[in-house]
Amino acid sequence: MKTLRSYVAGRWHAADSRFAELVNPSTEEPVARTSSHGIDFAAVLEHARTTGGAALRSLTFGQRGALLKEMSRALRDHRDELFEISRLNSGTTATDASFDIDGGGGALAWYAGLSRTLGDRAVLAEGDVVPIAKDGSFQAGHVLVSRPGAAVLINAFNFPAWGFAEKAACALLAGVPVIVKPATATAMLAERCVEIIIDAGVLPEGALQMVCGSTGDLLDRLAAHDVLAFTGSAATARSLRDNPALGITNTRFNVEADSLNAAVLAPHVSDATLDLFLRDVVREITQKAGQKCTAVRRIFVPRDRLDALQDALVTRLRDVVIGNPAAEGVTMGPLATRAQLDDALAGLHQLDATAKRVLGSGRRVDGRGSPEGKGFFLEPTLFRADDPRAAGPVHEREVFGPVSTLMPYDGSAADAAQLTGLGGGMLVTSVYGDDADWLRDFVLRGAAFAGRLYIGSSDAASAAPGSGAVYPQTQHGGPGRAGGGAELGGLIGLRLYLQRVTIQAAPTVLAATTGG
Ligand code: NAP
Repeated sequence: MKTLRSYVAGRWHAADSRFAELVNPSTEEPVARTSSHGIDFAAVLEHARTTGGAALRSLTFGQRGALLKEMSRALRDHRDELFEISRLNSGTTATDASFDIDGGGGALAWYAGLSRTLGDRAVLAEGDVVPIAKDGSFQAGHVLVSRPGAAVLINAFNFPAWGFAEKAACALLAGVPVIVKPATATAMLAERCVEIIIDAGVLPEGALQMVCGSTGDLLDRLAAHDVLAFTGSAATARSLRDNPALGITNTRFNVEADSLNAAVLAPHVSDATLDLFLRDVVREITQKAGQKCTAVRRIFVPRDRLDALQDALVTRLRDVVIGNPAAEGVTMGPLATRAQLDDALAGLHQLDATAKRVLGSGRRVDGRGSPEGKGFFLEPTLFRADDPRAAGPVHEREVFGPVSTLMPYDGSAADAAQLTGLGGGMLVTSVYGDDADWLRDFVLRGAAFAGRLYIGSSDAASAAPGSGAVYPQTQHGGPGRAGGGAELGGLIGLRLYLQRVTIQAAPTVLAATTGG
């Protein structure tokens, strides 16, 4: 069994005790173990802040972007090996692995491209110069400069490659060194990604460190100029917010958390739009076995179409072949861990109390190509709640598996918008319709409940990528339960790691100091 190592203070650290075991979720066989026992976290932070930070801050945006491009290339050169690790440790099909691994490499490459537009400078001007003195001899401008600290990047288990890459792309491009902490259960893939990048020698020493296992007292040591970027459950985010050290120093803290994303079908849609809706919803329930923060958890359709759409969704979801992705014909793998399976089963039990289960046994099942009784398999499960306003847990409990609830609304944009809002803040709402007036009304009433609104219509039916796809060029993050954070979105994602400073000076001095 492989022992995963951490990369800290310029060397690989292998612990000798307190190991957590990582398993193949399709067979439950152990595949690796890891522990961070023995790491000196004060030294890790110091190494990032001094060695890594100084090296990155001495580079321009363009030069840092070139490093991202090399990182992306190194990962691409090991694509097949990474896919295999993903299957072993996360139970992903090739499509699901691509979503994570190619998505991660794509985010790095996209930010490398953005860096070329930022060019040969290390300071970014923001907005216009404004006069201070009436005669124009004293002015002010806002600039963004690298924060002189370290970025701790904590990721969820479901995107070990993309989670690392999308955060690291923004931090490194902004000139801030990173300490990556993958979720322990699926750390095998993140560990190999970091190893590939370190071996490729593309980054200055101290720019990239990784902790596999517990963060020990790392977070207690964060200081004013550091950044904590967290992705995971709302419960963990709450416990991190309570860390007194963060409160005292006001360390920047970005949270990407749970989300009860909604899909809405408008009334009177074309056949192409209806087909897009069904295709997207089924994909967003089953891709990565529903273990996506952007998965569709709630589906709202006009009341007079509820029965027909239930039948259509059930028919399509029944086509899913569950099993070990190594076996022929499997289209959906297992949940990633026993804990995730147990949590999802507990969630199904909660939903059973308020909604009717119309597809799925509510129990673990065997998967094709896996030993009987082994593997964390859960069938696609569809609930139906005829009275959405009386279905509390449906709007509150994120069941992190291939699980969604179908509900009716009265056909008006007002009712649909209000119902989506019961989710308490989402990453994404998807709405499918062809009537511009209805869609405009929905935007006015319902857009602000989510960080992203995806609109599917007949003229986008062939090109629309699905509401679950997250692009580096658009913001990722949502209000309320979703954490209130903002990642990616081009420069939006960089701002977390940059400090906005007002510079007040004579015009010539201002131009000379903020131009480069
Ligand atoms: P989790 O249990 O909250 O863990 C997330 C990360 O936090 C892991 O790396 C975990 O490390 C770490 N962690 C837990 N307690 C910690 C502590 N006290 N100090 C420092 N680190 C700590 O979440 P998960 O089960 O991995 O992920 C599933 C959740 O993530 C879902 O709720 C999903 O919606 C959410 N998610 C959100 C997004 C988004 O962009 N909004 C994306 C993906 C997933 P260990 O593994 O070592 O415990």
